[in-house]
Amino acid sequence: MKFTLQPKTIQTAVAKLKFRTQAFIDGEFCRSSSGKTYASINPANGKKITDISACEAADVERAVAVARKAFDDGRWSRMKPSDRKTVMLKFVERLEANAMEIALLDSLDAGKPIYDCVNIDIPDTIHCLHWHAELIDKLYERVAPCGPDSVAMIVREPIGVVGMILPWNFPAQMMAWKIGPALAAGNSIVLKPAKQTSLSALRIAELAAEAGLPVGVLNVVPGAGSVLGPALCRHMSVDMVAFTGSTSVGRDLLRYSSESNLKRVILELGGKNPQVVLADADLDLVAPHAVNSAFWNMGENCSSGSRLIVHRSVKDALVEKVIEQTKSWPVGDPLDPKTRVGPLIEPSHMETVLSYIKAGHKDGAKLILGGHRVLPKTGGNFVELTIFDEVKNSMTIAQEEIFGPVLSVIPVDSDEEAIAVANDTNYGLAASLHTRDLTKAHRYARAIRAGVVSVNCFSEGDLTTPFGGFKESGFFGRDKSSYAHEQYTELKTVWMQLG
Ligand code: NAP
Ligand code: MG
Repeated sequence: MKFTLQPKTIQTAVAKLKFRTQAFIDGEFCRSSSGKTYASINPANGKKITDISACEAADVERAVAVARKAFDDGRWSRMKPSDRKTVMLKFVERLEANAMEIALLDSLDAGKPIYDCVNIDIPDTIHCLHWHAELIDKLYERVAPCGPDSVAMIVREPIGVVGMILPWNFPAQMMAWKIGPALAAGNSIVLKPAKQTSLSALRIAELAAEAGLPVGVLNVVPGAGSVLGPALCRHMSVDMVAFTGSTSVGRDLLRYSSESNLKRVILELGGKNPQVVLADADLDLVAPHAVNSAFWNMGENCSSGSRLIVHRSVKDALVEKVIEQTKSWPVGDPLDPKTRVGPLIEPSHMETVLSYIKAGHKDGAKLILGGHRVLPKTGGNFVELTIFDEVKNSMTIAQEEIFGPVLSVIPVDSDEEAIAVANDTNYGLAASLHTRDLTKAHRYARAIRAGVVSVNCFSEGDLTTPFGGFKESGFFGRDKSSYAHEQYTELKTVWMQLG
């Protein structure tokens, strides 16, 4: 994307924004059945952005019926793959043409720095949809080696109606990671964005319709998860639910599925991710990655490397570099292109993060940077980038997902201890490993129990690699890559007896 990110240009663009605030069902915007709304609040100043339709169970009912009909009549599910690809590529074009608008919506709604939205979130969103669109007409199916008297075709078919429930931390991007493969595979969708961040989802659904996605294939129902979640996930006409969010809600979804039609459930959940730094690591290389891993997106990131597990012999030298780097990340207005750290999503979440900082003090960890709310006069939920040293892995701040800008430095005395501490968590989403020793890099990357291990960097891979968690970080699911595509399909055998 080519944008001149000047504060003045941004403010002008914000003033021109028109918000889509109603549910998007059957190809058009509509009020919720109850007529109720909820306020979307800007986390940078506490002010209302707009009111959004609060859907309820009746709206889910309607959206599922519409999605079911769209799926069953084959308008998308049985469309020729190359035609489906053409529509998806037009959708990508519409997104490209409106990328700045989507970036601004996510920045306003979620408090994400516009710098990140423009350079990371929205390019990734577009690339994801493009990647899955291009895959559509390049997948071949299989014929089983069953002998000359039969032909057995093993085919993949779209699974049906997919319910999607999204988090607020990467609104457009998480939507793309889910709708990209699901639409490419031919499914119909009923999507519930997070309450805090519904604006980009509604606009993206409209752009898909403008691109020619048949009506009823992509429906968006904004509203409370506690109401819409059970309605969607207990629904007998929903064949699958794809979720990104907290582990506790993930558990509920498994229950809803088991108590209804055993729909497939794909869960992408939390993390307490280790960054392991061995004694031979290049500390100048480690420091920027360590800071990015811990503090990118204010630490409101499921793959945030919130535990820096470092060999004691290099710990002080690394900490010094990490502090220096951290201080170079400006905190402030997310719409200022220089800002790297915006506000946390809402006041209650800020209070939770501050209470973890208190717990760190109480457990005896040593606060070496930050630790406080800042910029209170803005009305925003800003918390300083915070680092604790001398953290023990058993402490609350090293065990629980804080989902905020709090890094725990955990000194260790050997490689073995480092790997054991890295794995001493209920989670297993992402990890980084820093060493110059190739043998150790290979061996330890395999020893760490996480869905993604990045070596000598902080990375979640790219669109070609699957993303998802071990242990309580996930259930069954992987986002991105052809593995994501497959999980939105059913496997079918067609057995034919020859005469
Ligand atoms: P959350 O509270 O679990 O909310 C996620 C979504 O679930 C929201 O849309 C929420 O609706 C909805 N929800 C709430 N209760 C529900 C219920 N009973 N049934 C169905 N849906 C329900 O998590 P969050 O606060 O948005 O996000 C933070 C969490 O997400 C963190 O734990 C983080 O690690 C995880 N995360 C994981 C990944 C990954 O890829 N693995 C990526 C990003 C975030 P409301 O709008 O009403 O809240
Ligand atoms: Mg908001």
